[in-house]
Amino acid sequence: MSSTNSEDLYIIARENMVKTQLLKRDIADKRVLEAFRKVPRHLFVPVDNRSNAYEDCPLPIGFGQTISQPLMVALMTQLLHLKGNEKVLEIGTGSGYQAAILAELCRDVYTIECIKELSDLASDILFSLEYKNIHVKTGDGYSGWPEEAPFDAIIITCAPEYVPPPLFEQLKIGGRLIVPLGPQHKIQSLTIFLKDESGISEKYEGGCFFVPMKGMVENN
Ligand code: SAH
Repeated sequence: MSSTNSEDLYIIARENMVKTQLLKRDIADKRVLEAFRKVPRHLFVPVDNRSNAYEDCPLPIGFGQTISQPLMVALMTQLLHLKGNEKVLEIGTGSGYQAAILAELCRDVYTIECIKELSDLASDILFSLEYKNIHVKTGDGYSGWPEEAPFDAIIITCAPEYVPPPLFEQLKIGGRLIVPLGPQHKIQSLTIFLKDESGISEKYEGGCFFVPMKGMVENN
């Protein structure tokens, strides 16, 4: 008799998510797909919503915040072109799921969350999953993480109207920064910035909808 326990069901749900939500919609980076097969997304979702963890949508994680839709996490990650040896900064730890995906694909992840309860929860789950290359800090991501700069890539997973200047300063030459840019409660522009010797260029990558970036960025 076959015994299918809930962990097996989650593995099947993950594989299904990769096939139907990612492979069919322009996610082709094999390392990114592998990370999505591996990271247990259901553990980053509140217990009462775990059965929906692999659905094609964002989900509430408390405090008015959300874990992003799998496709959006995959798109933003793929656009960073990670090869394995990078140091990456994330603004908006939220559940910690995006940080875990990044940690599968680069050397070190530095992630900042302004809501202490969320950064504590994310730290606990990332610790229990034995991620040693993720560093979580509570605070306003506006100022970045100067002690650890420069970064090969920066990912902002909340929406500011402009990129805080310290984040551009902390990006390496040759580095990439991905951000949903735009006003609160409106469709935002997923934008990738590339920094080279001659300056910073940007490219529009489609519309998206993220929770707003709070704090210092709202005052300017
Ligand atoms: N990457 C997350 C989803 C992020 S939701 C995940 O994988 O689950 C956006 C998060 O950004 C929220 O948790 C919100 O509290 C946080 N945030 C908003 N403004 C911020 C700021 N100025 N600094 C750091 N975090 C911020």
